[in-house]
Parts: sequence; structure tokens; C-alpha cells
Amino acid sequence: MAKRDFYDILGVQKNATDDELKKAYRKMAMKYHPDRNPDSADAEAKFKEAKEAYEMLSDAKKRAAYDRHGHAGVDPNMGGGGAGGFSDFSDAFGDIFGDIFGGRAGGGGGSRQSAMYRGSDLKYNMEITLEQAAKGFDTQIRVPVWDNCGTCSGSGAKPGTKPETCSTCGGSGAVRMTQGFFSVQQTCPKCHGTGKMIPHPCHDCEGLGRKKTNKTLEVKVPAGIDDGMRIRLSGKGEPGVNGGPAGDLYVEVHLKEHAVFQRDGDDLHCEMPVSFAAAALGGAIEVPTLGGKASFDIPEGTQTGKTFRLRGKGIKGVRSSYPGDLFCHIVVETPVRLSERQKELLKEFEQSCTADGDKHSPRAKGWMDKVKDFFG
Ligand SMILES: [Zn+2]
Ligand SMILES: [Zn+2]
Repeated sequence: MAKRDFYDILGVQKNATDDELKKAYRKMAMKYHPDRNPDSADAEAKFKEAKEAYEMLSDAKKRAAYDRHGHAGVDPNMGGGGAGGFSDFSDAFGDIFGDIFGGRAGGGGGSRQSAMYRGSDLKYNMEITLEQAAKGFDTQIRVPVWDNCGTCSGSGAKPGTKPETCSTCGGSGAVRMTQGFFSVQQTCPKCHGTGKMIPHPCHDCEGLGRKKTNKTLEVKVPAGIDDGMRIRLSGKGEPGVNGGPAGDLYVEVHLKEHAVFQRDGDDLHCEMPVSFAAAALGGAIEVPTLGGKASFDIPEGTQTGKTFRLRGKGIKGVRSSYPGDLFCHIVVETPVRLSERQKELLKEFEQSCTADGDKHSPRAKGWMDKVKDFFG
């Protein structure tokens, strides 16, 4: 049987984006996953086919080679196959995609080769508060990882036994299919490209050579870290295959929304409600800052929308020499739920203002002038 086109397998166009590829693959993987189709050899074959196609096309280098040379360009036996089934580990945390790889499809166990290569990088999403981001802190995270099985030292074979060379491909991991003029090299269907057969699989890891475990890792979150920044834990990703180096683990930071402050780089912004009397009279007002309360004077006649800048009351970024500023945006509040007496006072106040013309209302004055211009 000739090998099908990878794009056809996933049912996408040749110019499909990474996202489209991922979606198409996810759909196939969910439909044909062996756990959902027990005892269906056809589903399993389709699942493997989709997995292979996705692994090839999701890797930019391999995809380019495939586009140029077809299947010969991405012969998995020429080295460089993906260690894990995914390179972006965000998928492996939590969602269905992760379950698939964590299930018996076997997080990277599918295409082990004798070539040595680096383990996949992993990504871990961490939500932190603004206060934590500003000060920095040390924490621990629990990360599910595939680790080499200690019982069989990663070979997948029961202790005391050895993997044997695959009789179908003679250990090369590939077989040649000839059809008419074409000769196509294909991953060995018996050993799935590993070149080995394991007659007595290790009980601990069921022959995968790897086990899923939870690791506790120490993470130092530096002061000033911002939303979307990543902390690299070198060598804490997936273990390498056949002695290759381990990948890295990236902790990606996500800032929770803060009740009072909005962050913009090193600067902070907050809204500051002020009573209309206080805004009219001016004077000291108290504002919250990350380091406690601060106070500053607003001048007489402060209008709504006026912004005051408190220098150095923002956040000192990871790469900044000075902290940013805090911007307080004044919102003048209209008083509500007034008593009869308060209403009386306000009416009296309003009358005394109108008696002076429009000089107490700078905005209304400007606005009236514009309206007059408009009507000619
Ligand atoms: Zn084992
Ligand atoms: Zn084989």
C-alpha cells in the first residue's frame, strides 16, 4: 500500500496554518483514539497515520522537507523524529489532547529510534497576583512528566531480558514498499520505527521505557515579572531519548486581574473616586499603592478625568533600573441618596452659583460657546 499524503490524511489544505493542523489532528485523534475504538485495527491504523502526519507537518523543518521531496524527504529513519508527540506542551496540561498522549498512545513512546535526540520542551501555566509579581516569590509546582523507567532503565524490556532486533525490518525501523515504478520507504509497521521488538515488556512501564510521574519543582519568580513572561527551568523538560539531553520547562506567568490596579508595563493605573465637594475644594486625598497608602494634594477645582502621577509608585520591571509610576485617574462622583436637608443645601448652592453666571462651570461655558457657533 502506498503511503497517503499527509495533508490528505488530516484533511487540510497544503497551506494550512499550524492551528488548522492542530485542530484537524485533534479531531482525528479523538475520533480514532484506541481507547474509544477498542479492538478496531482500522481505527488504530488511522490514529497512527494521523499522529505521524501531524508530527511531520507540525514541525516546520520536516514540513518543508515533505513539501519539497514528499515522503522521502521526511523519512523518520533519517533521524530527528520528535521525542514527544508534541512540541508545545500547553496541550498536554489538562485538556483532551494531554489525555490522549498520556493514555496508551504513549507520550512519545510511539516512535522511539536508536538515534539520540533532545527531549521536548514543556510549558506550565502559572497564575499569580499583581502583588506577587511586584515582589517576586519562591514557589513549588507539581508537573506531570514522562521519566525514564527506573525498573528497565528506559529499555522497556523486563529486567534480565533484552529488546530484540525487529525481524521485519532487520533493525532499520523502515521497510521498502514497491508499487509500479515507485519505491517508498515506510516506517516498519511491526516495530513502529524503533527497529526493536520487546518480547518481555517491563511490567512497570508496559514496555514504553518511560513512566508518567509528578515532579515537584522549585520556581523562583523574579520581582517585576509581567504577564506572558516565561521562566526557563533548564533541563526540566522531558528526558532525552537514547541518552539525548532533556528539554527545558517553561513556566509562563499569567497575571490575575487586580481589584484596584491595572498594569501597563512598569506603570500602574487606578481610578480614584472623589466627592464633588472635595474635588471643588481641593486638598489631600489618600490613594492605595502596592506598598501601602500614600497621599497627595489635589488642587481646587479638580475636574473628573484629571490624572495625577505618583512617580516611582509603579512596579520595577525585571529588566528595569527604576520602578514605574502610578497614575491616579480622578472620577468626580455625583452624590446620591441625599436627605431633604442636603438637597436644600444643594439647591441653595446651585442658586448662588447661577447668580454668578457661568463662571463656576468651565466646561459648560466652553460647550455653550460651541453650540452657539454650530447654530450660527
Ligand atoms: Zn520499564
Ligand atoms: Zn521493524
